[in-house]
Amino acid sequence: MRKKILILATGGTVASMEGESGLTPKLSGDLILEMVPEVNDLCDIDIKQVMNIDSTNMVPDNWITIAKQVLAYYDAYDGFVILHGTDTMAYSAAALSYLIQNSKKPIVLTGSQKPISSSFTDAKLNIYQSVLYAIDKNSCNVTLVFQGKAISGTRVIKQRTRSYNAFESMNFPVIANIIDRRIFRQAISRSVEENKLTTYDSISNRVAVLKLIPGLNPHILESFKEDFDAVVLETFGVGGIPSGTAHSFENAIMDWVKSGRTIIVTTQVPEEGLDLSLYEVGTKYANVEGILEAGDMTTEAIVAKIMWILGQTTDQKRIKEMFYTVINYDRGDF
Ligand code: ASP
Repeated sequence: MRKKILILATGGTVASMEGESGLTPKLSGDLILEMVPEVNDLCDIDIKQVMNIDSTNMVPDNWITIAKQVLAYYDAYDGFVILHGTDTMAYSAAALSYLIQNSKKPIVLTGSQKPISSSFTDAKLNIYQSVLYAIDKNSCNVTLVFQGKAISGTRVIKQRTRSYNAFESMNFPVIANIIDRRIFRQAISRSVEENKLTTYDSISNRVAVLKLIPGLNPHILESFKEDFDAVVLETFGVGGIPSGTAHSFENAIMDWVKSGRTIIVTTQVPEEGLDLSLYEVGTKYANVEGILEAGDMTTEAIVAKIMWILGQTTDQKRIKEMFYTVINYDRGDF
């Protein structure tokens, strides 16, 4: 039987046209699809315009809106393709992975580096391969499809601002390579238990990311207290946090977590993750209530995960339990 796919259009470069002050999303989802008629050979397609924005302006409430749209039509379609700007697609892919868990039906995000109206666009291939991936019987959960790669929604980073292969799968293999019309899956098998779809509709945006730089004044954390309940701390190397000097973060961090707030310690090095047990400058934080270790997660996934968690609970034990639960391959086992 022919499958049914719903495309949700949200804007981005793929929908953009050249205006007086640069590219802005203008084309509707219908017009975009008219430019890739080949997808109609694959399945039946409906399109819904959810918003039409540059993804720079995407905020957590928009993730909820997108998730609600997917769920509103969940029973009526076999899979979903979300057209999205590339700049914050990694955050949206991670957020949707937490808001819609154990989905047998694939939820695919894609976009393009060049507008679909451009002669050199990458949009047509990306849209075609996304639909192809969404109708495949082995696809499930939230996945980004871009330039022949299918990447788990929690492992995506935007690595390049201009090249067509904008995205990489960080610290985890790609789920599949897609060459022309063929999907080559990697050894990891993705499967979802029957009737285990779990969905959420609240999120907190009281989360900030702080990247350590040499000599940073630790008082900065104090100034975050009014507006934030959690800080993602991008430390040096495997988890180096300045201590024993005038710029020691130790007191500021302990004070932060004693106030009931959360710190997620991660690394500013993109590959291979964190290990607080390795150096003396890290060990003192390893087992403190309120301090969580991000392991090999991407910063985008950490941000989305803690926003999702804080949308559900403020209980430290529950926060910890939820954070360390592996969802959509977001972290390796540590
Ligand atoms: N600024 C655009 C956006 O994220 C970039 C793109 O889509 O490639 O919406």
